Amino acid sequence: MRGPVTIAGAGLSGAVLARELADAGYDVTVYEARDHVAGNCYTERHAETGVLVHRYGPHIFHTDDAEVWDYVNRFGAFRPYAHRVWSKAGGTVFPMPISLATINQFFGSDMGPDAARDFIDETSEDIAAPHNFEEQALSMVGRALYEAFFEGYTRKQWGCAPRDLPAAILKRLPLRFSYDDGYFAHRFQGMPEEGYTPVIEAMLNHPRIAVRLSTPLNPGHDVDGHVFWSGAIDAYFYHSEGRLGYRTLDFENEVRAGDYQGCAVMNYADGAVPYTRITEHKHFAPWEAHEQTVITREMARACGPDDVPYYPIRLATEKAMLHRYIAAAKATRNVTFVGRLGTYRYLDMDVCVREAIDVAEKFINADLADQRL
Ligand code: UDP
Repeated sequence: MRGPVTIAGAGLSGAVLARELADAGYDVTVYEARDHVAGNCYTERHAETGVLVHRYGPHIFHTDDAEVWDYVNRFGAFRPYAHRVWSKAGGTVFPMPISLATINQFFGSDMGPDAARDFIDETSEDIAAPHNFEEQALSMVGRALYEAFFEGYTRKQWGCAPRDLPAAILKRLPLRFSYDDGYFAHRFQGMPEEGYTPVIEAMLNHPRIAVRLSTPLNPGHDVDGHVFWSGAIDAYFYHSEGRLGYRTLDFENEVRAGDYQGCAVMNYADGAVPYTRITEHKHFAPWEAHEQTVITREMARACGPDDVPYYPIRLATEKAMLHRYIAAAKATRNVTFVGRLGTYRYLDMDVCVREAIDVAEKFINADLADQRL
């Protein structure tokens, strides 16, 4: 036996860490504040309709990392799923991200790839090193497309002017001069056949792992051995440096008959519409047949002390505060910060898995080295 170790949070990062450490012989206790595992990728069957619902917003697994893909497939069957998103702007529906189809539809043109590239080159603004979201968008697609597809959505999603946001947020989206309408360009993409919850449960199902649901771990509390903290980094320090900014989400569910929008995710680009997107969950599992449908309107707002933090905002002021927390984290021996909240970064699921595997490996090797001394 090795360890013991303690993990705060039974989301994806916490579950992968727990599994890796348990497989290496550590006794692991996972504390989870909620009454369920799987964090924000939690999925559940909707009682009335049987539709698999992504309770905390849509999660699509996509990666270029073959090891990560093999890893998650060990814990559940993934079905092929190619995510496509449409965006409603000014009363019309366009493919998102911006592709040749979007450009031609928007400008009422029939340009080929080269003509469209020249056209976007001419209409986009010449900004050598974009410093923020707005500059990034203007230099990438020009003002007309920026205003139609990014400005309103981004204000709603982040609650501030796009010029106050980091350029990195927009760099998540490609611009394509082809009719490829896939949302992600990664080699591996899929949906777990029964949702994410059984995948996380399978990771945690190990004789050396004990999961304590509805049991938040109090930071600094007397626990045995090393702690891996996947909660918010500022919460670990009881917000001693102030509160880092997060966006939280409100979800409004509705049951309807038939098919509401014909796709899993429809974005609402116009600033006047209060929600950012509508998710129609049954389209995430096209292999299932349901007569009814569950749709979810998603609204973002500032995260209060009692709300669920979803997105780290990372404004300039927050970065300064973050650096103080990172310094405090480095000075806190026997605690490692992991995941989207623990590192205050906008991480996708595959990156969480990669980092959790790497953190576990590093920890195990360092522990072995200590024992040899
Ligand atoms: N975005 C936008 N319009 C869209 C889609 C995305 O303005 O139709 C911007 C918005 O600021 C969003 C960011 O691009 O927060 C990243 O989008 P992504 O789809 O990766 O967001 P997620 O699904 O993680 O919420």
